Amino acid sequence: MVKLNDNYLKLPGSYLFSEIAKRVSAFTEANPDKKVIKLGIGDVTLPLTKSVIEAMHKAVDEMGAAATFRGYGPEQGYEFLRKAIAENDYCARGADIAPDEIFVSDGAKSDTGNIGDIFSVDNKVAVCDPVYPVYVDTNAMVGRAGDFNAETGMWNNLIYMPCLEENGFLPELPKERADIIYLCFPNNPSGVAMKRDELKKWVDYANENKSIILYDGAYEAYISEEDVPHTIYEIEGAKTCAIEFKSFSKNAGFTGTRCGYTVIPKELKVNGVEVRSLWNRRHTTKFNGTPYVTQRAAEAVYSPEGKEEVKGLIKYYMENAKIISDGLKKAGFTVYGGVNSPYIWLKVPQGMTSWEFFDYLLEKVNVVGTPGSGFGPSGEGYFRLTAFGSRDNTLEAIDRIVKTFEQ
Ligand code: PLP
Repeated sequence: MVKLNDNYLKLPGSYLFSEIAKRVSAFTEANPDKKVIKLGIGDVTLPLTKSVIEAMHKAVDEMGAAATFRGYGPEQGYEFLRKAIAENDYCARGADIAPDEIFVSDGAKSDTGNIGDIFSVDNKVAVCDPVYPVYVDTNAMVGRAGDFNAETGMWNNLIYMPCLEENGFLPELPKERADIIYLCFPNNPSGVAMKRDELKKWVDYANENKSIILYDGAYEAYISEEDVPHTIYEIEGAKTCAIEFKSFSKNAGFTGTRCGYTVIPKELKVNGVEVRSLWNRRHTTKFNGTPYVTQRAAEAVYSPEGKEEVKGLIKYYMENAKIISDGLKKAGFTVYGGVNSPYIWLKVPQGMTSWEFFDYLLEKVNVVGTPGSGFGPSGEGYFRLTAFGSRDNTLEAIDRIVKTFEQ
């Protein structure tokens, strides 16, 4: 009889966002007259910008004419996009990354989820707690996370690095040796950023211990403070120990268009083997390239007009973040994040769990957020709101929260 991958059977119940969707739809079915405002899922709401749309239209026309039609492209991405990424996101920031160290994909979720393919299941993995669930679940799927303990909400073979109020929601260097370390800054869910000198400690740790940092920079575009690095390769020594993941989802609104990329420098080697060569093998075997039209759209993000438009999108969402932050503070909440990131991480009222606060907010205020405990045990007692809603909905949601909680 065929055998299944039993690791999938160990995965706990439903994925965070399906549980949220279930509770929201039960509420809206029972209360069809109520306007529920969703500030839960990290999905953008503003449409694609003018330059991006024009580039896509042009590319569609090319695809419709025999002389300019494109079939399969290079799996790693077209040279025009890899060059634009290298020049704008790296060389312009003093990080010397070459186009052939960049692998274009359909997004950072796929890449952060698939990267484990090139590492042995014997590696010891460290994750922040709370954390973007993809890192944990994809390690669990191949058996690298061990067994799930429903009582603690933890996998017994993962190293959890608690990110708590007392450490500014930043992880501490693991006491136990970690081979693979997932870092995501600006962070989802806490919204905090890691400063240059702090990140240097991690790069030094990884080089000293021959570990690899998997650095998720999906929210890089939201960085507003000077001493926060925009790429891990701004840090000396990072090229020999770090892989970086980036996405066009949160800066240019590509959540539905789908494009991201992974950077693996040639200097990153394990026992003399270029890690990049393994990813190249994996990528070219299992992936047939991001659509041409999408890659032209991504290229347009780097044009002078495209850059200005992205600034406009970020400004809009960050104004929402400020509205949320200020409103929550006025209502008496302790609030983090929202400065270098579109996420606001708030402490739930004393005596409530994250899910109890979720239900309270849904039922009494008709606002949907994300319970912190859904991102890991150390997220208990916290709640995430996102700045990705429309301005009107954000203002209305915060107005309702202030009216309900202000003493
Ligand atoms: N990484 C983090 C930390 C995220 O929060 C998200 C999406 O919410 C992603 C990656 C996914 O990005 P993409 O849309 O490029 O797959």
